[in-house]
Amino acid sequence: MSSAVSLIVGLTGGIGSGKTSVADRFAELGAAVVDTDVIAHELTSAQGAAMPAIIQTFGGGVLQKDGQLDRAAMRRLCFSDPAMRNSLEAILHPLIRSESVARCRREANADHAPYVLLVVPLLIESGAYHEHIDRILVVDCDETQQIARVMARSALSEKEVHDIMATQASRAQRLAVADDVLSNTGARDELLIGIQALHRRYIELGRRAGVTEHV
Ligand code: ADP
Repeated sequence: MSSAVSLIVGLTGGIGSGKTSVADRFAELGAAVVDTDVIAHELTSAQGAAMPAIIQTFGGGVLQKDGQLDRAAMRRLCFSDPAMRNSLEAILHPLIRSESVARCRREANADHAPYVLLVVPLLIESGAYHEHIDRILVVDCDETQQIARVMARSALSEKEVHDIMATQASRAQRLAVADDVLSNTGARDELLIGIQALHRRYIELGRRAGVTEHV
């Protein structure tokens, strides 16, 4: 991606690993953050760009009263029927990808941040983002911590969290392709120290890449 900002970091990790918490801290430090989960929510809001195709494919039964996608109902449908899941992904994934790449470009060209952080929960599983990013940052924690944190923040049962984790890459698979790892097994304060160090490193890498691009 050639642009004013020269570094795009793909941020990933399993459900509940701490991606959102980490991305928020990077944003506070000055990184531009593009979050595919935020984009997915926008696409499936009442007036979202994915809704006509979703209604055509699944009918009105997957909507909440206000017209937005009933995400819990859709999740149940997809778990009981892989064909449903494939249909939903065929609608959503290309839209999420094109919108997130467009936003990365906009952020890069706006040149108000030293680098862009692209948050993609299924970065490793999809493989579709690799050509758009310069490196992969994995947020890592124990699987038991993932489960406990997700259960504390949502109404999902332990089995439901397990089922979601089973559809995602394993901890080992993620770590195997990581350029950088942020360990989120401890307290939030410890995490912040790692984030600050990486922030400085990304500024430096972005600067170097920018110099190379322009010689
Ligand atoms: P993800 O975006 O990867 O699903 P979140 O950032 O939403 O993960 O974190 C999952 C939950 O765990 C949230 O409720 C968050 O506040 C909490 N959490 C994240 N990091 C820590 C930590 N180091 N200690 C305790 N709770 C944490």
